[in-house]
Amino acid sequence: MRSPEKDKALDLNIEQIELKGFSRSLTEIEFLLLILVILYFVVPGSVVTAEPFWMTLSMFAYAVFVLGFNYVNLDTPQYAWKLAIETWVMIIFITWVLWNTGNIESPLINLYLLVVIASAITLDKVTTILEIVLIFAFYIFLGVKSGIKYDLVSFSVTMVYFSPFVLVAYITTMLASDVHYGKMMFKALSETDEMTNLLNKRSFIPMYNKAAEVAMKYNQPLSVMMIDADNLKEVNDKHGHKAGDKLIISMGRSIEECLRTSDIICRYGGDEFVALLPQMPSGRAIEAGERLRSAVENTSFDVDGKQVSSTVSIGIASFPDEVGNVFDVLDKADQALYECKRSGRNKVTSYSSILATSEVEHISSKRQYDPKQGGTRETDKA
Ligand code: GH3
Ligand code: MG
Repeated sequence: MRSPEKDKALDLNIEQIELKGFSRSLTEIEFLLLILVILYFVVPGSVVTAEPFWMTLSMFAYAVFVLGFNYVNLDTPQYAWKLAIETWVMIIFITWVLWNTGNIESPLINLYLLVVIASAITLDKVTTILEIVLIFAFYIFLGVKSGIKYDLVSFSVTMVYFSPFVLVAYITTMLASDVHYGKMMFKALSETDEMTNLLNKRSFIPMYNKAAEVAMKYNQPLSVMMIDADNLKEVNDKHGHKAGDKLIISMGRSIEECLRTSDIICRYGGDEFVALLPQMPSGRAIEAGERLRSAVENTSFDVDGKQVSSTVSIGIASFPDEVGNVFDVLDKADQALYECKRSGRNKVTSYSSILATSEVEHISSKRQYDPKQGGTRETDKA
């Protein structure tokens, strides 16, 4: 039996996982920065102009910020702006360290690269450009502190010295966007059914949960259609597995053609499809189901010169007309589908029509066993 809790657990927010991963990487970079600064201070002969007390205090304050910021954000959703704040604080800390270790001539000047890399990997292009501009402004400020009087020549020379930072940002951003594109491709592939190009069950469940939450919150109607090919096994046996495949593909196409573009259609498994119809009340869903049933009945396709056609059974349930708990709609549509099969196939059955015959309990207890096939139906495993 389906449970919303189980389905919700499947609702992995990929963006959150990615942002949390970025946040962990950023924390590692922040600690790397601290270690590098501490190493510089303990190396004999290092030039530090600030009092040891102030340097120690600033490092301590930065460590407290990193730990505190990450601790506070431990159980809260991660956002890109939080990562941006961390990189800005990094820039300020590095500038403070450089100010006290020789300004633009400081051997630690390349620490800015850590921020450039961190922001190119974790943040979007615009924020990375803004960070580069900010770092450049501090770079000029440190130049002034080092006694550079900026004119056209000295400014051009500074730009040349600064260009590696821009280059690193450019290359890292390119690499990060390649990785991001790869991840998006992988995500799209993992969410799509190869045969029909429709969504698969894995991607449908989170969408169903989200649509159900919206419908419940705003008390909007929501209908679900469970659609199953009739006697596909026979088609497979008679015309071969390829013909069965063609039938499944043709069914998917008919469903897309008969429903709205805003409806969410998924190949739920085998020859079973599910369509989520947001903001659609029971009556209109039954009309759409009838249109679809008739379209499939009148569609045939060629198998080695022979025209093959099939029919579908459609179970429909709607919130709030028929089902009080929006998270139960899918389950009730499945029960309506079972009733279609039981009563002869090539039908559209709504959950309210089986409620009327007071057979729901009977069906629930019997549906584990399909007398025609002598086995359990796949839809019950969800
Ligand atoms: P019913 O009218 O009760 O739905 O009968 P059915 O023969 O369609 O059987 P059922 O829906 O219970 O099972 C679906 C069958 O479809 C099981 C399997 O043999 C076949 N099938 C499942 N996936 C595929 C597929 O990708 N391609 C083909 N060709 N056949 C499939
Ligand atoms: Mg079937």
